[in-house]
Amino acid sequence: MSHPPPPHRGRFAPSPTGGLHLGSALVALVAWLSVRSQGGVYIWRIEDIDGPRVVPGAAEQQMKEARWLGLNWDEGPDISGPITPYSQSERSEEYEAALATLADAGRLFPCKLSRKDLRKIASAPHGRDGQPPYPKELRPADLQEDWFEIHLAAENQDAALRFLVNDHPVAFNDVVMGEVTENVAETTGDFVLKRRDGVYAYQLAVVVDDIEMGITEVVRGADLLDSTARQIQLTEALGGRIPAYAHLPLILNENGDKLSKQNEALTLAELRGAGVSPQAISGWLAHAVGLADTFQTIHPRELVDSFVWERVRTEPIIAPNNLVELLRTLSS
Ligand code: GLU
Repeated sequence: MSHPPPPHRGRFAPSPTGGLHLGSALVALVAWLSVRSQGGVYIWRIEDIDGPRVVPGAAEQQMKEARWLGLNWDEGPDISGPITPYSQSERSEEYEAALATLADAGRLFPCKLSRKDLRKIASAPHGRDGQPPYPKELRPADLQEDWFEIHLAAENQDAALRFLVNDHPVAFNDVVMGEVTENVAETTGDFVLKRRDGVYAYQLAVVVDDIEMGITEVVRGADLLDSTARQIQLTEALGGRIPAYAHLPLILNENGDKLSKQNEALTLAELRGAGVSPQAISGWLAHAVGLADTFQTIHPRELVDSFVWERVRTEPIIAPNNLVELLRTLSS
């Protein structure tokens, strides 16, 4: 029996660690254009699981800046929707349920080793994030059947929880970047889903939320391309539907460094303060990523009809040093 295709549901999921910078604005804009051009639903989700990195007030600030840019959403923390809550810090129950499912399926195990211990033990060359892939030999050979219940009941849960990965290549066709193949067993090995300090890992939270929120298309920056194979394996293990992935080029400065939240001059709030109009920003972003032929002021809604993924470029975007001047001139 064939199933009808699911309704198009896209999301923008910023971490509230500061204002929206140009790179996040690009992601928010293109994700929005894709949804709006296909009559789908746009969801705003706050990725605030990593408490210490969260800046108070940043989540509200980001939503304000996106609205100023001309974007709107159909479900989100400030307007609710069918799959509440839309803030990860309030979704622990969902993450615990997913961990229990994985434990039942034999895809989860406790690990007391620190990153430092692992670097010492593993002889393989270091892979992702300066870490060697987790060696298979360290998987516990004889876990008690009820280890997870015992772990939950323990007063001091002094172990991280790791996902037991499959040793087969994951292949996917990124909407922007094309064919990607990765064998997670070789790049990261069994990765952490809940840290020893009790914090849920980004990989777990994002996958659980994307499944439960029915996300059919994930649009985000190319820096997350190498998380995707892990997320696909985890989605499969949780019985979820694999969304389409579209990774957008990063925006770099003229030295080739990634524009970051540290670069305060390029948050939307700073640009606004410098006298830049939202239409100048949308115009620059759309032109830079290949969605507009010329650099001119434009409102996001004017880009909806002509939006097609084929136009989105893959190479990094270079923001010229005089970008603020350029944007200001265009704004006046
Ligand atoms: N929260 C991540 C960020 O702000 C995005 C995660 C995702 O889109 O999967 O970079």
